[in-house]
Amino acid sequence: MYREEQGKVVEIYPFAWNSFGVTHIESLPFFHAYPGSRSLLLGSAGCNFDCQYCSNAHVARVNPKSVNLWHLQPEKLLTKARQSGCHNIVFAINEPTVSWPSLRALGETAREQGIEMGCMSNGYFTPRVANEMAETFSFINISLKAMNRDFYQRYIRVTDIAPVLRNIAYLAEHTHLEITTPIIQGLNDGDIPSAASFIASQDPEIPWHVFRLLPEYQMKDMLAPSIEAIEYALQEQENKLAYIYFGNFVGSEWVNTVCPDCGKVLVERINLGGCGAKSLACHLQGDCCPSCGRRLRLLGEWTSWNKGGAQIGKNSSY
Ligand code: SF4
Repeated sequence: MYREEQGKVVEIYPFAWNSFGVTHIESLPFFHAYPGSRSLLLGSAGCNFDCQYCSNAHVARVNPKSVNLWHLQPEKLLTKARQSGCHNIVFAINEPTVSWPSLRALGETAREQGIEMGCMSNGYFTPRVANEMAETFSFINISLKAMNRDFYQRYIRVTDIAPVLRNIAYLAEHTHLEITTPIIQGLNDGDIPSAASFIASQDPEIPWHVFRLLPEYQMKDMLAPSIEAIEYALQEQENKLAYIYFGNFVGSEWVNTVCPDCGKVLVERINLGGCGAKSLACHLQGDCCPSCGRRLRLLGEWTSWNKGGAQIGKNSSY
């Protein structure tokens, strides 16, 4: 995605996007940032990781030259976001740092026009980029793939986990942060307790999405993880973190937001399998539990999908 030109690193495919569509913000997943809202999902091609289980390898692990890319400048994307009734734009699918100058420029124009931006990221970047990420995105979900260097070396094909942990610590202080951990049974399920402890040591209110990974790409032959075994491991962590979610299977009851103090369901969601979570109803009073008054960590307010978000409006085509 980059080449060297007169001593500078430049993008080969600026403002080039492979994925582009409207989705529920919960499906990305973000459960504590503008819940219920419509997001314009954006992705490009390429990745700085080589996760052996990657489900997006068809765009992330191929030469970007072989992928369909649509060229859309920031103004055009923002118009499309407004026309589709989207409250925000979220970069997911592959890694944002591979399209970084384009995303920085998009973020700047989006800010001027009052549209929020978010992203999913593997968290493997320099401190300078961590700082720029916090400037560009008002909400970020970092994938914490395991808690040990061996896993990162063997299954992700990078040298160390340390940059990911460092960047999580920085972003927890500088933006709205959620964390996702894909679980592959037998390979990283043993890291569930240490991952929960690490997140809690940063901030016990960080929402943690545990994802039942169905391996693809080079690990197609691995078994799908046992739902019961992961549930058991997660129940043991509930005293560490306020919000633990578990999804990627139909009918998960772990996708609701529940008051950590009194147990009342505050945001009801449904998981239809895959990344298909969406919110159905919100029972919050402002940002507080109506039963016990506990404040919920939330960026923005819950928005009904049909009603649209703050930016949705008169020009919506829905
Ligand atoms: S970080 Fe995500 S997109 Fe990149 S290789 Fe890993 S799973 Fe695929």
